[in-house]
Amino acid sequence: MEDLFKLRPELLGSKVEPLIRARAEAFQSASAAFRFSVTPYYLSLASSESLCPIWMQVLPDEREASDSLFDQPDPLAEEAHMPVPGLTHRYPDRVLWYLSHNCAVYCRFCMRKRKVSREESSPTAAARKAALDYIRSHSEIQEVILSGGDPLSQSDRVLENCLKQLKEIQHLVSLRIHTRMPVTCPQRITAEFCDMLESVAPVTLVTHFNHPNELSDVAREALTRLRKTGNLILNQSVLLNGVNDSVEAQKELNLGLYGAGIKPYYLHQCDEVNGVSHFRVNMEEGVRIQKELRGRIPGPALPQYVIDLPGGGGKVPVDSSYLVEGGYPDPVFENYRGDLFFPRGDHP
Ligand code: SF4
Repeated sequence: MEDLFKLRPELLGSKVEPLIRARAEAFQSASAAFRFSVTPYYLSLASSESLCPIWMQVLPDEREASDSLFDQPDPLAEEAHMPVPGLTHRYPDRVLWYLSHNCAVYCRFCMRKRKVSREESSPTAAARKAALDYIRSHSEIQEVILSGGDPLSQSDRVLENCLKQLKEIQHLVSLRIHTRMPVTCPQRITAEFCDMLESVAPVTLVTHFNHPNELSDVAREALTRLRKTGNLILNQSVLLNGVNDSVEAQKELNLGLYGAGIKPYYLHQCDEVNGVSHFRVNMEEGVRIQKELRGRIPGPALPQYVIDLPGGGGKVPVDSSYLVEGGYPDPVFENYRGDLFFPRGDHP
């Protein structure tokens, strides 16, 4: 904790100092269960006045030690669908490949905190080879998603090696990279990394911005560099209590991303992971926020609100039912303002 004050000495004597110090015990327990880490850059975004959405995402909280009834270490059953170490094969056509369990910042709501932040759990070079062999020998796989931890915590050389080997597999039609580095350490998006990314195009890179305050000038410049590689850049976020659970925050975030050339893709319901229940937003409230957003921001700027079903059931949309009454052929629809409409449902 003291390192925070060394990195930002102006926090000493600020309004936020006692609020951070009140979490001393949580810092202690965090180092055992799920480590604390923040980059100087991400720390620079945090307020000295209050526990703002940046602080809320990185500061250990004593509530992490208490689980709600349904919380589990691995609610999406990723480990149960792991044919070789470090690779989850749940949907028939795609696999998640964890290249590293390290990240620049450890987000307190992380759904993989059972292994993330423990570098010793990161897949080894031998595991990477086994994963590649598995992908090569399963022709039903069409897409590989590089995930983690943060795959960009690997070197450019390792990433390039993996991506180029994947490119040579004929049955793969899509490669995706999920990373939070543009948010937490935009300095990682170097010219060399972008050159490498351009050389393996097309790939889809999915960032993870959760709050408009994360869209700093430095982050926007990193996004511009990424866009110039010619690859598709999307964003997924998690709906988080006290961070972005308001129409205003969602509007500003998604408009900001869209304006920066990034397509908002998913807004996730927070998973039922041990120690994150204080972050979860009531789904009814999530639906209300999503409904209010529709009609208030351009359609392409609207992410889809989804839940990953516990037990490995996969992702499904959490849709507000705009069809409020009856069914076909006499449906009644409600729009984003709550007005009712009566289109014909039986057109030939
Ligand atoms: S960057 Fe992703 S994997 Fe890493 S701690 Fe945050 S949510 Fe978890």
